[in-house]
Amino acid sequence: MALIVKKFGGSSVGSTEKIMAVAKRVLDEKKPGDQIVMVVSAMGDTTDNLINLAQGIDKDPYRYMREMDMLLTTGEQVSIALLTMAFNKLGHKAISLTGSLAGMHTNSVHTKGKLTDIQPKRVHEELAKGNIVVVAGFQGCDDVGDPVTLGRGGSDTSAVALAGALKADSCEIFTDVDGVYSADPRIVKNARKMKEITYYEMLEMARLGAGVMQPRSVEMGKFFNIPIHVRSTFTTKPGTMIREDYTMEDENFVIRGVAHDAKVAKIAVLGVPNNPGIAHSIFSALANANIDVDMIVQSIRNIEKNVTDMVFTVASGDLPQAKKIVDKVADKLNAIAVLIEEDVAKVSIVGAGMLGNPGIAARMFGALSKAGINIDVISTSEISISCLIKDAQITEAVNAIHAEFFPEK
Ligand code: ADP
Ligand code: ASP
Ligand code: MG
Repeated sequence: MALIVKKFGGSSVGSTEKIMAVAKRVLDEKKPGDQIVMVVSAMGDTTDNLINLAQGIDKDPYRYMREMDMLLTTGEQVSIALLTMAFNKLGHKAISLTGSLAGMHTNSVHTKGKLTDIQPKRVHEELAKGNIVVVAGFQGCDDVGDPVTLGRGGSDTSAVALAGALKADSCEIFTDVDGVYSADPRIVKNARKMKEITYYEMLEMARLGAGVMQPRSVEMGKFFNIPIHVRSTFTTKPGTMIREDYTMEDENFVIRGVAHDAKVAKIAVLGVPNNPGIAHSIFSALANANIDVDMIVQSIRNIEKNVTDMVFTVASGDLPQAKKIVDKVADKLNAIAVLIEEDVAKVSIVGAGMLGNPGIAARMFGALSKAGINIDVISTSEISISCLIKDAQITEAVNAIHAEFFPEK
């Protein structure tokens, strides 16, 4: 007898036909005695459509964060009800649970919530009654019972965290690709499927834009030490295992993959005093608003006047709020100007193999230069190198870098 958590993403449950197909597949593969917990996303583009709907009221609906969560959580509630009906129709007992009913507790950071505690008592009770338990992904509730969503792609995190809390025997993430690839297979035709990847490298890939897994879900996998199987909803072949260590991969890659993120914006605060506390005043104001900052560069504008430029990137979704905050701080600092560039994108390479391998950065920059692509900002971590470029060139950039590190055999 095994306890299995299976998560199905939006494109896997995009229509009632697809929902019926998911229910049928799960029942076909279920062994007698298996206990199944399903975590599902909203159908197809539902979440985007709900955001558009809110924009009909106010073009910046994230000003009303609690209400955004009230709205967005409805998407997953539709899916759990329909999928549960599908199981019942096919003759198996099932019950749907919202995040709150499943015991998914969060902090109160609306639209970017973090799971703080999982008490899946009801899930255990329903499993014991012989039900397949269908849980709404992407949502939990805070201390006062208000709904809180976990950031875009958050159903991955719901699934892995629930699998960890239930001490599940396995956690499977079903999606519209059949595993994790060396680059987004929608962009790089000959991207290579990985048999496995470590939490460490997958977290960096996800953080840098590989949307197949929400970064926090990989952290949860590592925290609970639960292997995550990323696989296709539409085929039965094995996908990619995300786990602590490599066990079977036969090739020795220097880099594991190329990630890209077109949803970034650059903010430049020009001409701020080059004094202690300036960076702190800008970045603490952003941190207080839960805005993540990336690719920070401070450069000298004028040595005699002792002023400097502060350049950094934020997620496009955070730009309206970030701009308001930075404008205020820049005013106080007597900065010359705040410039915003939205037509930028970030391309990155990831791999633990680049540690102590100094030629890797040069090869990445060489590939971009050969393709005639200018690099605006560079940043590095222990296992990644990222370049900010023009977003119109992102497809070309990802392909050029991929061809450099993964030449056709
Ligand atoms: P779901 O709705 O199932 O959560 P997502 O759209 O969130 O699916 O994630 C799957 C998508 O992630 C794929 O269709 C693919 O385009 C994208 N993706 C980006 N980078 C990668 C990668 N390195 N490997 C696989 N898929 C990737
Ligand atoms: N429905 C949510 C989103 O579109 C959560 C998810 O799909 O994981 O971001
Ligand atoms: Mg997703």
